[in-house]
Parts: sequence; structure tokens; C-alpha cells
Amino acid sequence: MPEQGLPWLPGDDILTDDEVVRLIRLAVGRLGMKKVRFTGGEPLLRPGLVDIIAACAALTPRPELTLTTNALGLTKVADALRAAGLDRVNCSLDTLRADRFEKITRRRRLDAVLAGIGAARAAGLNPVKINAVLMRGINDDEAPALLAWALHHGYDMRFIEQMPLDPQHGWNRHQMMTATEILGSIQEKFRLTPVAEEERGSAPAETWLVNGGPDRVGIIGSVTRPFCGSCDRTRLTADGQIRNCLFAREESDLRTLLRSGADDDELTRCWRTATAGKLAGHGINDPGFLQPSRPMSAIGG
Ligand code: SF4
Repeated sequence: MPEQGLPWLPGDDILTDDEVVRLIRLAVGRLGMKKVRFTGGEPLLRPGLVDIIAACAALTPRPELTLTTNALGLTKVADALRAAGLDRVNCSLDTLRADRFEKITRRRRLDAVLAGIGAARAAGLNPVKINAVLMRGINDDEAPALLAWALHHGYDMRFIEQMPLDPQHGWNRHQMMTATEILGSIQEKFRLTPVAEEERGSAPAETWLVNGGPDRVGIIGSVTRPFCGSCDRTRLTADGQIRNCLFAREESDLRTLLRSGADDDELTRCWRTATAGKLAGHGINDPGFLQPSRPMSAIGG
């Protein structure tokens, strides 16, 4: 996020809770989606989140329900989310050092984030996954410490290559810590054994057993080891647009269709057509790559 923040969407642009649930019902019931992940911005800011999750948990077939969050505020809602039917959470945490946390997030909230992560585990939202992005010169030495901390607390640690989805369009390939570098850094302290590729399926993380197992660590090499060929994701934004890829430069407007009275068949057809147009890959490594105009914080992970 830029220091001055990002403009808020006008309230009317945002799907209502009923609209969100209707579209998820179509995705699950007609498009065969088995897992629903609530992302952001920050999904815990949505007042109706618990009710949306409860409605999704009542769908048939019942999808797996997960959430990606910065963990701030989880201490207050983790139990309610679990009771509503949430299965798991992914929490973003790039550092365990208070000074670095403040530099990266511009907030002195590391203790609150750690408490939120602990609340998720206590509420049974397991396995709690921790997502860290290592940035050169900022937290590039912290992989072993983060992994040791995660293992100690029983969390699943995953490191993610930084992707060009920042609002400043300041991403620099040479600043990025590559999956190979992250792996090397972890191996200075831990013995890693690769987990068989067939276990990965469409999951983004390559996984290693730590010190012979059963503990594991994941690395998501989105840029240098892209996994687009097995990607089966589709994204519905808060303002009702379908994005068939994180890096899509075009969106399909389900909100206008929905609010003009479209029936379930029309909505499903639009979503299916949007998905069929998915490109073969993100193209970050192509010379002509163009970053999408929506930043990560306006898409969700
Ligand atoms: S970049 Fe696009 S196609 Fe590739 S894994 Fe991400 S969402 Fe899927």
C-alpha cells in the first residue's frame, strides 16, 4: 500500500452480502468450485463477513472455506468465524522484528498480529498458514527465524516471491528474492527434502520436508517457477468483477449483469466465458509484460 493509502470504492459499487452469496452459490453449485477463499484488501474489515461465511457453509456441496488476512483483529472474531464454518486461515507476516514490522507496514502492531495468529490456532482454524514475502535489504535474512518460529507454534510456513502487483509499479526483478535464494537461505539452518511433485496438484507452493519431516515448508516461486499451467483459480472482486488471473488486464462485469436482472443461467455463462479466456500464463518473464492496473491490495491474493 502507498503511504497515503488508496481511494476507497464508493459503497454502491461493492456487492451486497446477498449478492456475494448468490454468486458464490453459482460458483459452487454450477461451476464446480470446491474451495472459496476470502481475501482483500483485508476481509476482516467487511462487517458482514461472518454471515457470508455462514451462508457459504450451508451450500451444497459444502465448499472448503478459507481466509487470507493480516491477522489484525482476529483475536476478536476467530471464534465466530470458526463457528460460522470457516475452515482455515492464511496470515501474512513478513518479519518477527518489531522495527522491521513497523518499517514494512507503517504500524506498530506486531504484537496484535502475533496474538491474532495465535487466536486462529486456538479457535481451530488449522493448519494456520503463514505467508511471508522476503525483500532484499529489508527482511531477506529472516527465512530461518520465521520457519523456526512457525515450527515452534505449529504453523505452516510459506515463502512467496514478490510479484509486480504494487500500486507504485516499483517492482524490480533484481530486488526480488528468488525461490532458489530463499531455499538456500533456509538450508543454511535446516535439512530440506523435496515432497513428491504429484502431491502438489494445483497448489501454488512447492513443499519440502523439514529435517526429515513431518514438518514442512512451502515456497511459492510465482515469478521464477510459475505454476500457471495447473492454476484453476478465478477471482471475484469486491465490486463484482471476474478476474481470470491475478495479472489479467481485462475483467468481466458480473455486477452490472446481476443488477440488471440476469438469471442464474446468464450469470453462470458470463463467468464460464470469462474463465475460458484465461491466458496460458502471467507473462511476467516476457519482454512485453504489462502490470495490471489493479494492485494486489485491490484484488486479493
Ligand atoms: S499468475 Fe494467473 S494463471 Fe498464473 S497462477 Fe496466478 S492466477 Fe493462475
